[in-house]
Amino acid sequence: MLLYSDPVFLQHDTGAHPEKALRLSRVGEYLDQTGLRDKCELGKIEPVSLERLARVHKLEYASEVADFAANHGGYIESDTVCSRASYEVALKASGAVCDAVTRVVGGDDRHALCLVRPPGHHALHASAMGFCLFNNVAVGARVATTELGLDRVLIVDWDVHHGNGTQDAFWEDEQVGFLSIHRSPFYPGTGSQSETGAGKGRGTILNLPTEYGTSRKEFLARFTTGLEDLARRIRPNLILVSAGFDAHRLDPVGSLGLEVEDFALLTETVQKSANDYCGGKIVSVLEGGYNVDVLPLCVETHLQTLAGWQQ
Ligand SMILES: [Zn+2]
Repeated sequence: MLLYSDPVFLQHDTGAHPEKALRLSRVGEYLDQTGLRDKCELGKIEPVSLERLARVHKLEYASEVADFAANHGGYIESDTVCSRASYEVALKASGAVCDAVTRVVGGDDRHALCLVRPPGHHALHASAMGFCLFNNVAVGARVATTELGLDRVLIVDWDVHHGNGTQDAFWEDEQVGFLSIHRSPFYPGTGSQSETGAGKGRGTILNLPTEYGTSRKEFLARFTTGLEDLARRIRPNLILVSAGFDAHRLDPVGSLGLEVEDFALLTETVQKSANDYCGGKIVSVLEGGYNVDVLPLCVETHLQTLAGWQQ
């Protein structure tokens, strides 16, 4: 099990904001207490190259983030903080995912978990959005298809919010499929079932908007059926997960009534598809999850299941 976890991700300083460093410091402490960190191999954290970043983001936007951080920092858009260190930290978040993808595709390990921040799935081609600066999972997927020779990648996003930035990045891309299950109606307002991609990418996107109040059983059933259908169509060589834990019942930002153990079931469902199509290869990337007492438990369950260590 490859784990990308590093104190550098605490340097993205958001102040009094739900997406705060305490999220990851609490997760890190818990992985130490439980001995889980020691069971993993720690991956290398290096900044993503601008060449790799440019496959998802406009480089002028990257410069804008760099300048904003260097000049004063603060809110770069209505919901998103960019502090002095945030540009460098965000480059490392994307860089960690690129390293994880390279190593998993290369066969060093079958699973990697990237505990990075800022999160990424709302970040757009030329702007920050929804706590996100750079789209980490999208940058990783493009490394797989453009540098590592993979024909097909599938991104599975179970964060409670629709992964609009990821959907935009691969809207017309036939090589990268995208499944998102999310609360709807809810922020950011996109992700209806009629959004399925365009051009060569038509039919490679599957949105499962889910109303607040949907039972856990129904949520898991929709996810399982949707994933089986899309995986059959995409036949991925690698699966990436945008693992947000803000669909948990006690999440202060999201919530779709899920319990900690439901994240084990979601993980197992992804594993089943990964075993069917790509030798079990999964790279998982942290997105949301804002209850700092619950997040460590969700991450532990996800990691134990990914690694095959659960009882
Ligand atoms: Zn979210």
